[in-house]
Amino acid sequence: MAGIQLNRVSKHYGNVAVMNDLSLDIAQGEFLVFLGPSGCGKSTLLRMMAGLEPVTAGSITIAGRDVTDLPPGQRGVAMVFQHYALYPHMSVYDNMAFGMRNIGLAEAEIGTRITDAARMLELEPLLQRKPGQLSGGQRQRVAIGRSIVKNPSAFLFDEPLSNLDAALRTRTRVELARLHQRLQSTMVFVTHDQVEAMTLATRIVVMNKGKIEQIGAPMDIYRRPATRFVAGFIGQPAMNFLDTERMAPQDGRLCLQLAHGSVLRTTLMDADVPQTGPLTLGIRAESITVDPQGELPGRIDIVERLGDRTLVHVGLADGSSVVAEAHRDSAAAPGEAVALRIDSARLHVFDAAGLAHHAPL
Ligand code: ADP
Repeated sequence: MAGIQLNRVSKHYGNVAVMNDLSLDIAQGEFLVFLGPSGCGKSTLLRMMAGLEPVTAGSITIAGRDVTDLPPGQRGVAMVFQHYALYPHMSVYDNMAFGMRNIGLAEAEIGTRITDAARMLELEPLLQRKPGQLSGGQRQRVAIGRSIVKNPSAFLFDEPLSNLDAALRTRTRVELARLHQRLQSTMVFVTHDQVEAMTLATRIVVMNKGKIEQIGAPMDIYRRPATRFVAGFIGQPAMNFLDTERMAPQDGRLCLQLAHGSVLRTTLMDADVPQTGPLTLGIRAESITVDPQGELPGRIDIVERLGDRTLVHVGLADGSSVVAEAHRDSAAAPGEAVALRIDSARLHVFDAAGLAHHAPL
């Protein structure tokens, strides 16, 4: 089987278990992104695939071979780090040739591979320069080029963009997407940046404390987060969470009382949501809008004009606060009393275990 398989992998440092019994099947040609907060185990997973870190238990298969006990150089993968170490005294060409010369490849073959990679990454005019004569983004492209020439069966990226400034990060991200389109190789990418994950991934693996919270296509995860953790981690601004009190169902529909007393009749069936424990309403800013007809009264605290959209932070009767969307050209101002309308087709309900229940599609 091509691609990469993790089979019941565990990792312990001394007596600290960082992850237990984790299995994952990464398809050939997929751009898989591991996303999660710092310390959740993303880099450890990637380093175990690369062979830089042994597994405590379980096995890893790459391109159909069990590589669990193979050293990094024999796994057929290329790893690109956040801190790419180029040899400063060597030209870009020699930096790219270095690994291939080490394994005794013929100079003609080396030349062909570098020419191809340089064309793809637009490095041709830079081949004779030294790393010190390149910008940060160009150096990162050289680091990627150096891995491409090895013809790896998979690329492993560990936060490769996080050292670049904002504009360059966006450009390099687009270049990576283009590279994946052209090469169609398996790419595994670790980041804590949800925009990188949303824009690059064919599938995102959301991790939390060494466990997989959810695996899915970016928009599926955005629209139907499986847990409260995923819901709060994906999306900018973060999803609003409101405490509720469960009321008697109406026509079988789940009804929730909000802090100020009004009752929201949801589109979820009451019977589909656990009957015990508190329920939390989750709603994204774009689905709770300033509207005179709205059911939820509040007072504007902060207005954020972002150009394409205007966000308002609104204080509610119980002292909590939500981020809502106003019309882009709204004259909304701090201190103003407003009403908010909740789009009942776009709400999420989280039960006491943190599991999500979504409004039906
Ligand atoms: P992430 O990449 O998601 O930020 P890491 O994979 O680096 O997370 O770390 C996962 C967990 O493993 C963290 O709690 C971290 O402290 C721990 N850890 C990582 N490397 C070591 C190590 N060499 N020794 C002990 N604990 C480690």
